[in-house]
Amino acid sequence: MPTLGLINIGALATGILSAPRLEAEAILVADGRISAIGPGARADARGADVVVDCRGTTVLPGLIDSHCHVVLGDYTPRQKTVDFLDSYVHGGITSVVSAGEGVHAPGRPHDPVASKALAIAAAKCFEHFHPNGMKVNAGSVVLEPGLTDEDFAEMARHGVRHAKYGFGGYAQPREGEPEVRRAQKHGLCVMSHSGGNSIPGSSPISHEVLLHLRPDVCGHVNGGTTSLDEAGLAEIVATTDMALQIVQAGNLRSALHILRLAREHGAMARVCVASDTPTGTGVMPLGVLKTICEMASLGGLAPEEAVALATGNNARAFRLTTGTIAVGQPADLVVCDAPAASLARDGLDAIARGDIPGISCVIIDGHIRVGRSRNTPLAKRLATFTGITVGDAPH
Ligand SMILES: [Zn+2]
Repeated sequence: MPTLGLINIGALATGILSAPRLEAEAILVADGRISAIGPGARADARGADVVVDCRGTTVLPGLIDSHCHVVLGDYTPRQKTVDFLDSYVHGGITSVVSAGEGVHAPGRPHDPVASKALAIAAAKCFEHFHPNGMKVNAGSVVLEPGLTDEDFAEMARHGVRHAKYGFGGYAQPREGEPEVRRAQKHGLCVMSHSGGNSIPGSSPISHEVLLHLRPDVCGHVNGGTTSLDEAGLAEIVATTDMALQIVQAGNLRSALHILRLAREHGAMARVCVASDTPTGTGVMPLGVLKTICEMASLGGLAPEEAVALATGNNARAFRLTTGTIAVGQPADLVVCDAPAASLARDGLDAIARGDIPGISCVIIDGHIRVGRSRNTPLAKRLATFTGITVGDAPH
């Protein structure tokens, strides 16, 4: 595989919340992984087979959408749209985590056998299917009454690593606790729906239910789309260690409240960002980027911290092996700058002002997948490429 060098980096967000910014003008990529960063990478990056000249702009880790409604293929039955994952790559998203294929599968089977089969099929299909390079972490079983220990063991053997709670055939939402425990026992990361019911057929899940179920992640804790009450949120933040997922398709007021609570309780490492799309809210290629901008411009976070919520924090909560810019990590990278008409200096400054940055390059596993994004506004300064021809996306 050709080596790849990124040079003339102006600003770099690491995706690591405890050290979110790094001064480094170059990154070297070999065999799809970051092999050197900073002064040690400079000479080799300039001499790499393929060179991305960032021209003083900003490099971020590839964004992770930890709540994405994939089913099978690059198609969303909910919005009847094809190629949405390809389009999300143009929004800087390089990995998604399925929020349960069964949730939007037409016909929605409610028996445990079908639920298990769908999760295994999705895990195995997306293992080999990467629209525009997108890493789709699929195989998220929708928990149903009657899933046994043997079922979870079988699913774990066949690549199912996530579970979704809140759409199964339970008479009362509290009743799923045994299946949540079984899933966790077999190593699955369990995300629960939180808040009011979203689509017809889902149940409201209050903070009392979340405290009873104890999932690994409170999915769309700012509501999907209806928010939880403030006192309940305070209890979840203060008394548990569950991950707190803030989504674009939720309630913005509640998201900002959760951010304040997390800050007060030193719980920022548990906060992660996702889009919760495609849903009734739509297909949103810029969904994660937009939430990052909102958390920084309205929530008082430094832009590089807001980026970390959507990258390194997601990776930790959902047990993914990407999301940070560090030696040895997969080279999933986004090059961006302030949009052409913005008052901001660079990509991070744009995020701080609430302006969506303009993306000029997206790299997944060391491959350049996108040059100028077809979805973001035009960047002030565009990355240039040598050693490869990168077409501009048609607008
Ligand atoms: Zn959802």
